Amino acid sequence: MNGHFAPVGNGPSAQQYEHGIQVIDGDKEFNKSLNEYLQETHVAEAGFNYHLISVFGSQSTGKSTLLNHLFGTEFSVMSESERRQTTKGIWMSKNKKEGANGGATKMAENILVMDVEGTDGRERGEDQDFERKSALFALATSEVLIVNIWEHQVGLYQGANMGLLKTVFEVNLQIFLKDRQSTTRSLLFFVIRDHIGTTPLSNLRNTLHQDLTKIWSSISKPQGLEDSKIDDYFDFAFAALPHKILQPDKFLAEVDKLGSRFTAGHRSTKDQEFVGGVFLPEYHRRIPADGLSVYAEGVWDQIANNKDLDLPTQQELLAQFRCDEISREVLVAFDTVITPLEERQAEAARLGKPTVLPDLGAAGSGAREKCVKAFEIQASRYHKGVYTTKRTELESKVDSRLKALYQGQLSAAHKAGVTAFSDAVTNAVKAGQKAGGGYEFAEIVDKQKKKTLEIFKKEAKSLAIPGVAWSNFKPQYHLFEKELDEVSSKLRKEEMRRLAIRVERWVKSRLGEAIGLEFNKLGTGRGGNGAPETGDKPPSEKDLWDRIWNVFIGIVREAQERFADRAKSFEASEDEVDVGLWRLRRKSWVALREKIDEEVMEGNILMKLRENFEDKFRYDDDGVPRIWRPTDDIEGVYTRSRESTLTLIPLLSRFRLAETYAPPDLPGFIGAQPAGAEPEDEEDLAPIGGVDEEEGKSLEEEMTVLSESKRQDLVVKFKKTADGVYVEAKRSAIGGITQ
Ligand code: GDP
Ligand code: MG
Repeated sequence: MNGHFAPVGNGPSAQQYEHGIQVIDGDKEFNKSLNEYLQETHVAEAGFNYHLISVFGSQSTGKSTLLNHLFGTEFSVMSESERRQTTKGIWMSKNKKEGANGGATKMAENILVMDVEGTDGRERGEDQDFERKSALFALATSEVLIVNIWEHQVGLYQGANMGLLKTVFEVNLQIFLKDRQSTTRSLLFFVIRDHIGTTPLSNLRNTLHQDLTKIWSSISKPQGLEDSKIDDYFDFAFAALPHKILQPDKFLAEVDKLGSRFTAGHRSTKDQEFVGGVFLPEYHRRIPADGLSVYAEGVWDQIANNKDLDLPTQQELLAQFRCDEISREVLVAFDTVITPLEERQAEAARLGKPTVLPDLGAAGSGAREKCVKAFEIQASRYHKGVYTTKRTELESKVDSRLKALYQGQLSAAHKAGVTAFSDAVTNAVKAGQKAGGGYEFAEIVDKQKKKTLEIFKKEAKSLAIPGVAWSNFKPQYHLFEKELDEVSSKLRKEEMRRLAIRVERWVKSRLGEAIGLEFNKLGTGRGGNGAPETGDKPPSEKDLWDRIWNVFIGIVREAQERFADRAKSFEASEDEVDVGLWRLRRKSWVALREKIDEEVMEGNILMKLRENFEDKFRYDDDGVPRIWRPTDDIEGVYTRSRESTLTLIPLLSRFRLAETYAPPDLPGFIGAQPAGAEPEDEEDLAPIGGVDEEEGKSLEEEMTVLSESKRQDLVVKFKKTADGVYVEAKRSAIGGITQ
């Protein structure tokens, strides 16, 4: 974004810092190692708990000497003999003293002192340019500006120092022009050197204040600030020091005393007078220490390139740069926790084994909170608007990662849950079947559903982050519940099928017995014309189909009751029961047809006809076996018996009720396909003539038990059999005579 906000700290690393650091060198280059210095001196971690002081004044007025005594710094000092300019550019050093005033006062923590190159007062274009630039730089960063001045210069309105002050005032207005919201003030701390003592400090102070006001009125003020007063921007403090060379002991003692003023202070609410030390909160530039080097560099870049110094913009740029940096730093810790989890999840997905990661919620929200908190602590010191935006950015970055992770987790929990549920129900049903079938399907489903839902709910809840809307996974929970219901209904359908198979088997076995019995009655042959067997109305061959139909209906009815009862017990819907019953009726009919077909299979039916015929032929009307004599009308009996039995063949050929001489109402019995039936419900159903009209088979065809050709075939075969019996009887009659 801004080239001049390049990362700092890339300079020579093993630099010696005992003389502090040259922030701006003689070529007006900014030192990239400033941040490294701030880190080494542990100022960088101090937040707002640091102070920045600059010193101004003509060359060789003992500025460096003063700072070194005051703060234990080691700025170079011009040797007594050489007399040439020593301080090039701007140096910075951290206060190395802890106490002042003989150790009675503890100085403020983290005082940074800037020693600014002075001018020698001559009109040098190059110097004036640098003087102006360094004044701007110092004002933009420093809380306190020490103005070093000889006592004999006080009142010399035209003196070199006055020129410097003019510059300071002008650049201050320039800064304020861009930053009118600012409530920041600065303290101009005048230190009067070589104070002889004949003029009291209070007099010197008044003189200086008059001079300053004069200078202020002389400078040209930008539009809108014409009426501004010097006191709108500056506070003033004064101190006087004795001659260092003439009164060395007194000098040292006074400097030590002066040191005690570099502590925190505030304005009295009563009379606005200063209380405590020189560091008033309103002087602080509110640049967090860890952003100071970047800010200072940005400010210097603008100054050096003669751009209008726009501090609010600088602060915003700084905030953007630092917030991004802090964001990257805090994301490293987040990554350490989250990346391995993301990788595990991705790997599991790749292998097709979705895995529920243990304690993911705790890990996720823990990492999130740590990350956001760490960001907040460091970044909230910067420009509020930028901070808020960057925080939102960070949160959405973190949240999008967590969201993906959590959704993967819930999808794994979903899949695992569905499988577990389905397995649990199936196993419980199997166990129930093994134990003799005494299980309640609905209860099993209910219990397993509750259990599975509870596990899912617990997982979903563990992922919830308080106050974070996206982490509410209720929709996923409902989706899961819906799928469990779908699985339940599938399992219930399977259970219905199993039930249907059991009931169909029962129907088959009942039909097998009952229908077999009805057909066996044909063999007795005296159904229609024979003597009663029990005294009741004799079973008539003519109502064979009526009896079969009734038996069939009775069995199916009973089967339906069993089916419906059981199906209702596992909470099958009415539709599902209807479909099941419809299927059962159809399957039962098919079973009946199969049984009938079995009964009329050639061998079987021929045997029955033969038995029927023999019964009529070999026994008289009273059921007594006939002993044939040659005089008997064997031929007549034979013919009657044969014709009587032959009437059975057309009867057997069609399923017809005696009374109506029509097929039973099979379509009515089976009924229309229920509305709830699905294609799969019809899959294994054989078509039934007259019921499934589109199959092209009529009810008449469905009710045809023997085809025309089979019938004729049967007649021929039966006749042959009957003939055989007749011949045998004839022989036995003749044989009886010869004996
Ligand atoms: P700077 O250029 O303002 O930083 O001045 P220096 O600290 O390098 O000092 C310049 C010269 O002034 C040195 O030779 C010092 O010994 C001398 N000096 C320092 N302090 C005082 C003082 O309080 N009074 C006088 N008269 N000379 C001083
Ligand atoms: Mg110096």
